[in-house]
Amino acid sequence: MKRVIGTLAVFLMIFSLLLPQSVQAASKVKVKYKGVTRSYSKKKTCVYINGKKVDLSTAPIFVKSGAYMGPLSRVFTGSELNVQYKKSGKKITLTYNGHKLTLKDGTTKAIVDGKTVKKALSSSPMKSAKYANNRSSNWIVPLKSVCARLGLNYQMKDGTIYISSRAAAPKAGPTVQKPAAQPAAQPAAQPAAPPTGQVVLVLDAGHGGVDSGARGNNLLEKNMTLAIVLGAKKYFDKDSRFKVLYTRVMDTYPSLDDRCKLANNNNAELFICVHINSASAKATGTETLYNNSRVDKTRRFNIDSKDLALAMQRVARNSTGFPDRKLVNRTGLRVLNKTNMPACLIEYGFISNKTEARLMNSNTARYGRELYQGIVNYLIAKGRIK
Ligand SMILES: [Zn+2]
Repeated sequence: MKRVIGTLAVFLMIFSLLLPQSVQAASKVKVKYKGVTRSYSKKKTCVYINGKKVDLSTAPIFVKSGAYMGPLSRVFTGSELNVQYKKSGKKITLTYNGHKLTLKDGTTKAIVDGKTVKKALSSSPMKSAKYANNRSSNWIVPLKSVCARLGLNYQMKDGTIYISSRAAAPKAGPTVQKPAAQPAAQPAAQPAAPPTGQVVLVLDAGHGGVDSGARGNNLLEKNMTLAIVLGAKKYFDKDSRFKVLYTRVMDTYPSLDDRCKLANNNNAELFICVHINSASAKATGTETLYNNSRVDKTRRFNIDSKDLALAMQRVARNSTGFPDRKLVNRTGLRVLNKTNMPACLIEYGFISNKTEARLMNSNTARYGRELYQGIVNYLIAKGRIK
């Protein structure tokens, strides 16, 4: 008898494997909200963010009251869109590219760029709910409305949802018409079409030659910055997707203006500086500087200085493992002020801190390799290269 049941079970198993999965069941998404589980249709298990597929099989998109709803964290805040997120009670505030959107659990009313808008979300409110297969709560939001409020592109094509950063619209009005007397007006850094072909990138090893940069623990900043850049160069040299311009590959000192000119005259798309910090012996951590006052002026399609700085900060921190000092807005640095393209300056760690100095000095080649890989990943995520 036992054997019969066993055989039967095997038969049943094979039979069920052969059966097409019930389309009806597979297309349903079960979501629990305020203790009640409901089933929704039009399940989608992925979304494309800036051309990159994001898997949503454990937190799928579904339709509620005519709106496609999806998990905020996977689509907006945790994706490469990197929408900034702040939670306070049942409210969350999203900031992206100068837009600010405050949503409240269970209502379509929202605060949009400082103003309360009654039906800011078309037909379905944001909800803090649980997917049936998942224990933790998710903020589930109407995707199209949130995109519209944050200035993101939303497109549905052949049943697939595509979300992408929007190229900055050229600004009209008096801000563009600079007074003729203004010296050294920068050319607008907005080519007419998205860049294609090789990525022209400037890598700037800070200091050099007569300028040692910071010194501490028997080390010189200029040597470490060069070692990191040369570590990256090893990989860029073999990658035909890039045309990398180096401000220096030896112990020389190009002036700050020379460094900016190299980037501007070659119409570089990105400008990345490598530095090592210095302060007290106790100071610790990785930070990345950018110039907030030039984010708009130097934006190139879907890349801007802040966005680049965020990505490079992540890359550098992953390399060092030092504390996160995050982004620092610095308007007074020549290399961040006179360059016409998205630019940032990485401070890997503190030469004045014994532990950090030692770790940095023995890992420059790895930092360089990871910087290369980080730039590649960033540009793939941005849809700039494949
Ligand atoms: Zn420096």
